[in-house]
Amino acid sequence: MHDVVVIGGGVVGLSVAYECSRRGLSVVLLDQTQPGREASWAGAGILPPGHPGSPLAELSNLSTGLWPRWSAELREETGIDNGYRRCGGLRIPEQSPGETAAEVDEWRHAGVAADILEQAQIRECEPELAGPGIESACRLPTLAQVRNPWHLQALIAACARRGVDIRCGQPVTGFDEQRGRTRAVLTPGGPVSGHNFVVAAGAWSQRLLANSRTSIEIEPIRGQIVLLSTHRPLIRHVVEQGPRYLVPRPDGRTLVGSTEERAGFHKANTATAVSGLIAFAVSVVPALADSRFEQAWSGLRPRALRGLPYLGRPLNRENLFLAAGHFRDGLKLSPGTAVVLADLLTGQPPSIDIDRFAID
Ligand SMILES: Cc1cc2nc3c(=O)[nH]c(=O)nc-3n(C[C@H](O)[C@H](O)[C@H](O)COP(=O)(O)OP(=O)(O)OC[C@H]3O[C@@H](n4cnc5c(N)ncnc54)[C@H](O)[C@@H]3O)c2cc1C
Repeated sequence: MHDVVVIGGGVVGLSVAYECSRRGLSVVLLDQTQPGREASWAGAGILPPGHPGSPLAELSNLSTGLWPRWSAELREETGIDNGYRRCGGLRIPEQSPGETAAEVDEWRHAGVAADILEQAQIRECEPELAGPGIESACRLPTLAQVRNPWHLQALIAACARRGVDIRCGQPVTGFDEQRGRTRAVLTPGGPVSGHNFVVAAGAWSQRLLANSRTSIEIEPIRGQIVLLSTHRPLIRHVVEQGPRYLVPRPDGRTLVGSTEERAGFHKANTATAVSGLIAFAVSVVPALADSRFEQAWSGLRPRALRGLPYLGRPLNRENLFLAAGHFRDGLKLSPGTAVVLADLLTGQPPSIDIDRFAID
């Protein structure tokens, strides 16, 4: 019998499995399809340096500190470079240039380096960022990015090296429970028993727990992304304007994201969204008009209706834990989430205060 049964092999489940295995726990991870192929693969890989003024700030800071260390350790353990790098970010105001000063203050107040760029400085820093109306920007020099598909490969390889039993094509359909204690999860391949269980099933977590005694509200929010490419990178920073952004890769590819759509569990690209994203990209970096369209994809973000992820153990459960509902920040918050869950699973006090993420 394993110490921990992790349900769901996205970045959250894999990170929890990785951290638990590092702490000497034996882990089995079950995924209904293949690990690392859902939202975590589809994401853009932006790692903002914090969440100023948000209840996520502490978890975000914990994760920010862990990203460089995890990236180096994963590279050493597996030989896979996850592409983590501090490329910096520019945030362009959505409405008026006046927003920038307030935003810079907010970041600085949270202890994050930030400065205001006026139009001439923007041109100096990013000459191709020449869309009309771009008069000011908030620069975040420590904003980082990761190639999330590479990161997932590294996590899978590291987990496998550490003996995590990764089982693909194993949808969990229910729980075998007795007096508040989970004895096993049910799969078409038979029950899988363990001492502790972690639900990390992303957008599917509510559905998974639907007939159990734990009630959570998580809905899938579809996000579409377009990939453009040019001979050389046109910009160096991640550029964000409201919910939309450009993420430059060193090989000349530029990711353009993203939408927020209620479309159930239906992954698809629509003409409206793809054309809207391309129009946004060209409006910000006009030279992208001549870029090559490579592909488009979509993923289902797990949005907790209450606005915060569920982390921890419901009061009426003895050995069932949740790590789900990270919406737009699951990649960013995954190392901190894993550390907190591993703290709980090893009976230690959590590294940060997690009361606000309580399930009940
Ligand atoms: C377009 C887009 C852009 C994004 N950009 C960013 C970004 O720049 N930065 C950032 O931090 N975040 C970003 N995100 C959000 C981030 O991707 C998610 O918050 C994160 O991936 C959620 O991880 P997860 O492990 O909870 O879910 P998922 O990656 O969806 O993984 C859930 C896993 O559970 C499995 N599963 C589900 N049900 C069951 C079951 N019953 N039994 C067994 N297995 C099951 C699934 O097969 C899946 O593998 C983006 C998301 C999208 C869609």
